[in-house]
Amino acid sequence: MKARLNLQEYVTGILRGDRVVLAKAITLVESTLPEDRSLADRMLESLLPNTGKSLRIGITGVPGVGKSTFIEAFGQYAIEQHNKKVAVLTVDPSSTVTKGSILGDKTRMETLAKHPMAFVRPSATGEALGGITHRTREAQHLCEAAGFDIIIIETVGVGQSETAVKKTVDFFLLLMLAGAGDELQGIKKGIMEMADAVAITKADGDNIKHAKEAQSEYQHAFHVMRTGEPDWTPQVVTCSSLTQEGIDRIWNTISDFEQKMKANGFFETKRQRQHVAWMHECFESLLKLQLEKSAKLAEHTLELEQQVLSKAITPQRAADTLFNAFVTSLKN
Ligand code: GDP
Repeated sequence: MKARLNLQEYVTGILRGDRVVLAKAITLVESTLPEDRSLADRMLESLLPNTGKSLRIGITGVPGVGKSTFIEAFGQYAIEQHNKKVAVLTVDPSSTVTKGSILGDKTRMETLAKHPMAFVRPSATGEALGGITHRTREAQHLCEAAGFDIIIIETVGVGQSETAVKKTVDFFLLLMLAGAGDELQGIKKGIMEMADAVAITKADGDNIKHAKEAQSEYQHAFHVMRTGEPDWTPQVVTCSSLTQEGIDRIWNTISDFEQKMKANGFFETKRQRQHVAWMHECFESLLKLQLEKSAKLAEHTLELEQQVLSKAITPQRAADTLFNAFVTSLKN
């Protein structure tokens, strides 16, 4: 099949659930070429009525916590026990900065990736983090239009990408190791607060006892922590991707959350907020891009920064001046 398809080929291919076309469509939305962007926008718009029907799950945790092994186990469970089609998208913030990947270059989730009811897409690289999350959201919509029931967005628990991913998912699952300590795991309190559930991984063999202890500690912590979702206290469960023990508990926790949030209306409200916030984020990105594109404004920005540093003007006044220069630049 040729690398770039026409609009109709993308749309019909995706709607019939063709994974090869879906992969090409994601490549198209990740492209920074203006002509690709315009085709991608038209494709996304045509597919918009077919989006929104999946359950979107964000999964995070530090490298080595067992994310890919868990997603393999959880994905296969969802397919085999609940007849769900599962798509996995990964966001790897490291790859943009260092060009090396925290998630590793090894082929991850090989078994799941081969399953006809699954689709696994490794991380996009080479763009700013904001860009990646816009593109990930678009990839998520494409997967929905292609008929995937569950969309997992995997990210590494280092603090930057989680906040962005939280804004695009219905349920946020944090994976943690027992006995490693919060500091060691690099998990910031802010990430804990975003979680709708915590799964203590590798609860098998000698580790079961530690996992149970960690479970009660974290459960206690959640009782005293405020979270955003109404009618919901984040759940802490233990699981092993090797023995499969607890995978069903995580499934049940997520289903319970979905049912409760749909019943109290929060599910839809949150999605609507996320969707509108997306528009505002895109708008802010465009403003920023416009600002950066103009050499004259860039020069002016540097001058103003100097004036702020030398305390010649207040940051507010500098911002006002920059804004006025920006507005004038748009008129010219
Ligand atoms: P990731 O970096 O978070 O994606 O972690 P991986 O899924 O690559 O797992 C890291 C290591 O932990 C691998 O060596 C896995 O075999 C191991 N591992 C993952 N899940 C389990 C589990 O449930 N039990 C045990 N004992 N080991 C596990």
